[in-house]
Formats: sequence, structure tokens, C-alpha cells
Amino acid sequence: MTSPDRALLIDLDGVLYQENKMIPGAVDTLHWIEAQHIEHLFITNTSSKSRLALLEKFQQIGFDTEIDRIITPIVATSEWLQQKAIRSAALFVKVEASTDFSALDILPAESEGPVDAVVVGDLGEAWDYQTLNRAFRLLMQDPQPVLVALGMTRYWQSGGGLSLDVAPFIKALEYAADCQAEVMGKPSTSFYQSALALLGYPAHRVTMIGDDIAGDVEGAQRAGIQALLVKTGKFRERDLASSIKPDGLLDSIADLPDWWEAQKNTASNRSEVN
Ligand SMILES: [Mg+2]
Repeated sequence: MTSPDRALLIDLDGVLYQENKMIPGAVDTLHWIEAQHIEHLFITNTSSKSRLALLEKFQQIGFDTEIDRIITPIVATSEWLQQKAIRSAALFVKVEASTDFSALDILPAESEGPVDAVVVGDLGEAWDYQTLNRAFRLLMQDPQPVLVALGMTRYWQSGGGLSLDVAPFIKALEYAADCQAEVMGKPSTSFYQSALALLGYPAHRVTMIGDDIAGDVEGAQRAGIQALLVKTGKFRERDLASSIKPDGLLDSIADLPDWWEAQKNTASNRSEVN
């Protein structure tokens, strides 16, 4: 098997599918990526589901992959903590999301430590004073554990109306315990660095493709990764007036094979001239 010199990071929602429907041409592009042996990972900000649950969702709407190719903030956090040689963590995440933390020593619920990391995700209605206060007390240990935020979303639209997401709880903990959370999720550089470590490629040999000018394009570029913007999903024409400039603009992921081949030709012409 030949190993092409570039690898891909692919956003999910808005790039491969939209409202539970595949974007036309997306499946063909995924087959092309596999046929070309291009190393790739799927990178999403979802932190309320395990990657097994995500994989099952993908399969239902028409595409299949290997579970290890799906990078969520939870998977990246687990990788990042291992890179930092942090072994023990207290989890404030939904039970269905906790299975992806199997590489860590998880502090039993109710225990007040000691622990090396406090990981806070979307706990929804499971938050109460005692739970938040336990996270605070853990953060007041000496030495202070690292606080990890699974994304920094302020609120979301639930069936019953607007609802608090992760960020307000992180802000409360940062303020009370006088610390700064490490944010895992796009556009955080740490998140992209974890994805690069899992991919096994340096930033300058990776291309990110996404529909979010900030999370996907700006976040990837800040980590030194080339970034393509697709005109599907949350893309709006006004994104093009932004100070953030994508390295390429595609009508959809269906155009990726042509763009990729054109880049390869440009690169080989350049090396012939030199
Ligand atoms: Mg997206």
C-alpha cells in the first residue's frame, strides 16, 4: 500500500450529512478517499454521545467507517490526558459518554479525591448544587487538578426551550476555584493537536475540511493545518467576507477528489521546475 503524503481531517455535520441525510456525492468521496489510501479521521464537537453511538447513527444514514476514526472531544481529552501523563480523572459527563474514557482511572462518584483532572461535559439536568460543589472541591485540592471542558457552548435549543450547556458551569468553576479550563473541542488548538497525534501526521501534511469558518477553518489554521471550507451545512455567503480565509473553497465534499488531484499536479509541477 502506498502512503500518500497528505492526510485528511473531516468534519461530520454539514459536510457529510445534513439533517440526517447524506450530502449528494459524500459517500462517493468517502469511497474515493479509501481507494486512494488517504489516511483520515472524522472530527466532531459532539460530547453527549459515545463514538459507538455516533458510529451507529452514521451507519443508519448510509456510511460506514471504523470506530477508531471518529474523534470527539471525549476521545481527544482521553488522548491529551495520556500525553500529559495524567492518569486519574473525575468525570462530570453523561453515563452514555463515559465509556470512551476507559484508558483512565476514574474517580468513583461521590469520592472527593485526590485526582489529577476534572472533566466537565454536557451533564444537562443531572447538575445540582451537590454535583457542582463536588467539582469545585476537587479543584480546590493542592496541587490543583486540571479542569477540562468538553466544548464551551453557552446554551442550546432543547425541546422545552433554551437550556444551559457546558460553558456556564465551566465559568462558575473557573471563577470559584480561580483556574482556567483547558477546552477540548473545535476551535481549540489542543483539540486539533490531539487529532494530529491520533492521525500520526504533522500539521503541515494535513488538510481539514469543514463547513464552519471559525471552528473548522480558523481552528485548524491556528494549529498549522490547511483548511477547506465547503458551501454546505452552516456555510453562509457572509463567511467569505470574514478575515479568516480558507485555503480552498468547495461547493461540497463531492468536489474534494478534483481539488485534491489539482493540488497534487501543482505540487509535482513545482518540484519539476525546482
Ligand atoms: Mg460542521
